[in-house]
Amino acid sequence: MLLHDERVQLVEYCRRMQADALTVGTSGNLSIRSGHHIAITPSGAAYEDLTPESICVIDLDGNSVEDGLEPSSEVPMHTSVYKATDAKAVVHTHPLYASTLSAVVDELPAVHYMVALLGGPVRVAPYATFGSPELADNSIKAMEDRFGAILQNHGATTYGDSLAKAYTRSVYLEWVCQMYYQAKLLGQPNILPDEEIARVAEKLTTYGQTVPSSS
Ligand code: 13P
Ligand code: ZN
Repeated sequence: MLLHDERVQLVEYCRRMQADALTVGTSGNLSIRSGHHIAITPSGAAYEDLTPESICVIDLDGNSVEDGLEPSSEVPMHTSVYKATDAKAVVHTHPLYASTLSAVVDELPAVHYMVALLGGPVRVAPYATFGSPELADNSIKAMEDRFGAILQNHGATTYGDSLAKAYTRSVYLEWVCQMYYQAKLLGQPNILPDEEIARVAEKLTTYGQTVPSSS
């Protein structure tokens, strides 16, 4: 079986995505790139029934490499992200707060310093039908100098150099969307300046790393 370890990881993160309420029903899709191949969730996947065998393997042009289930309808978006960036994993979700904001705003502003994890304020990609090449184009344009985008009237997509990183970005993106939504209900939120986001982005490059001992 091609990409065994990647398939196992995808199944684990699909379960996590459901448990963390980052999506609803069969919405959303995840992928991992390994060289010229991409392991990606099948279309219309009932996450609770997924096994490593149900994961699809495609090439960078979106062609199936093995017989099996139909790959996600968002193959064009995933392959476009891999071609446009150095991503090793892509996470597409339909979380409540990012989806809510996507219908109202053009950008998630720097209402919390953790937007630095996404590379800065997160743009909303103009609406296009799910699975369309147009949605893929709009998404990668919105992701320029960013690690993710909100998709208008749809959801959100993030990427990273591992599935864990891409997934963490989705979790923080949704959290900041919820915080912005709540802050807007209370008043006019303070927005952090670009220089502060750049400073935080720099600090995050070493945040959480083990300090070498002086001995
Ligand atoms: P798939 O089930 O085909 O992956 O599509 C779900 C989705 O989120 C479409 O945008
Ligand atoms: Zn979607």
